[in-house]
Amino acid sequence: MSKAKLSLVKALMDGIQEMVYIVRVEGDTCYCEFLNRAVMEKLDLNENDIGKKTPEFNGQNILNNIELQFNQVLKSKEIVVFENIFITNTGERIFGETTLTPILNSEAICTHIVGIIKDITNVKITQSEYQSLFDYNTDAIFTVDLNGNILGGNFTVEQISGYSMEEMIGVNFIDYVDPADRESARKCLRLSLEGTYKDYRLNFLDKTGERVGCLIKLTPIKLNNEITGIFAVVKDMRELDKLVGKYIESQKRFQIIAENVQDVVILMNKRKEYLYVSPSSKEVFGFNNESIGEKPAFFNIHSDDIEILEQQFNQSVLDGKSYTVHLKAKHAERGWIWTEINGNPVFDEQRNFQHMLMIARDMTLQKEKEEQLQYFAYHDSLTGLPNRRYFKIHLSKVIECQEEKDTSFAVILLDIDDFKNINDSFGHEIGDSVIQEFSDRLKSTFREEDVVARLGGDEFIALLTQVEKEEDIVAAVNKIHQVMEAPWSIQKTDVRITTSIGVAYSTTTGTIATSIIKSADEAMYEVKKAGKNLYQINRS
Ligand code: GH3
Ligand code: MG
Repeated sequence: MSKAKLSLVKALMDGIQEMVYIVRVEGDTCYCEFLNRAVMEKLDLNENDIGKKTPEFNGQNILNNIELQFNQVLKSKEIVVFENIFITNTGERIFGETTLTPILNSEAICTHIVGIIKDITNVKITQSEYQSLFDYNTDAIFTVDLNGNILGGNFTVEQISGYSMEEMIGVNFIDYVDPADRESARKCLRLSLEGTYKDYRLNFLDKTGERVGCLIKLTPIKLNNEITGIFAVVKDMRELDKLVGKYIESQKRFQIIAENVQDVVILMNKRKEYLYVSPSSKEVFGFNNESIGEKPAFFNIHSDDIEILEQQFNQSVLDGKSYTVHLKAKHAERGWIWTEINGNPVFDEQRNFQHMLMIARDMTLQKEKEEQLQYFAYHDSLTGLPNRRYFKIHLSKVIECQEEKDTSFAVILLDIDDFKNINDSFGHEIGDSVIQEFSDRLKSTFREEDVVARLGGDEFIALLTQVEKEEDIVAAVNKIHQVMEAPWSIQKTDVRITTSIGVAYSTTTGTIATSIIKSADEAMYEVKKAGKNLYQINRS
């Protein structure tokens, strides 16, 4: 891959908010090879960490215990995603979601691992805040007679009030109510005896005289249809009041954050009406958030994707789980944008669904990055030619077609003669340039639709399709030898390059890619033995 392309990748990596690092794999050891700006800034790493082994550069920080995950990637050769916590250089805790992607070479050996850390701290904190709000559920229950005198109660009553049950029995519950609320307490008792039951907020006084804010519900105890007493269910609201206060505060914070992020923050109610859309919608999707109230649900989502989004939305309202959907959303001027939507349902203390908080994010950069990784997976970085893996897949497809179309093809394997001498006499750099020039010359002898690939080292392979007779192959091979004979001048150094060619000519169906390549390899072996710079065709 060219230098320009590589620096583009680096600019991309440095421009994004995610932390990115790349490690090089050598045997069992991983060496830090690249750190983008975000990872250096947040985790206090610097250029000096590049080249270090993982335990050295990850230190006591985030990349802690990451060896385990690296090993998993090396073993499975598949993407591994996990959550971890880091401490930033300013002492802040970051909840991260790390994606490790292996990069495999032509031999399917993992040479590099790309780590991308997404900061998911906000999601984590709101989740745990809400959780404690929901989980708060320990009620005090006591029974009173028709006059309000206490008959008995549970342990939580003792815990909240500081009095023992023995002390309380026989005392009118109104005596424990804050004098300012006693009138309401009497009303509450009277109404419940008349058959009107509802929740009241009352302040009680505990044994130390401190006010305890409670929610109280009186329910009649009936015997043979006659009211004989009353159950009082008392919820200590102090903790909850604090949390609600915090929630209101965090709503303010929500507003501040939402107004300032790049991602688009969307709040929707159960009827899928927009309650809030952050101003970043103007930049990301090209529409003004002020006009949002009038828009129908998911108005800028591609029709192919609406069903899955609605399905995830509805499911999440039911099971309370968050979800992520990748889809196409329309930008008013720029057309379709590859978008990630992350939905989080929010419930009230009674576990009633309140609203759906959705974060929409332009994934175009991410997509491009994935395409770059795809490119690396199927191409050789020195020549830009497809690699062995690509060639094999392509060959298998051609073999499949051959069975339908009844056409013949040839696999042409090439190996530069005495290439080691070039490296030894002129150095590796000139050796590299020879490989590049060889690949250009080789490609020029084939048609655009024929695939030419680098297998590795000084070995190349090409697939010649629509072969009608052996002369077609002979013509192709002669042409290759001819272009290689033209003088070579690499960085002002004159070299002579010849190549040995082994061909497998397949005229029958039912073959497999590996055995055809093997047959070309055997032909090549014979040529090298016979004196090089020749060709041999094996027919099957
Ligand atoms: P032969 O005629 O039998 O093919 O002999 P050879 O000297 O060409 O030897 P061979 O094909 O077995 O080995 C190719 C050499 O190419 C081995 C390795 O040192 C060198 N090589 C492999 N990859 C690269 C590369 O990317 N750049 C350079 N400069 N050299 C490479
Ligand atoms: Mg060679």
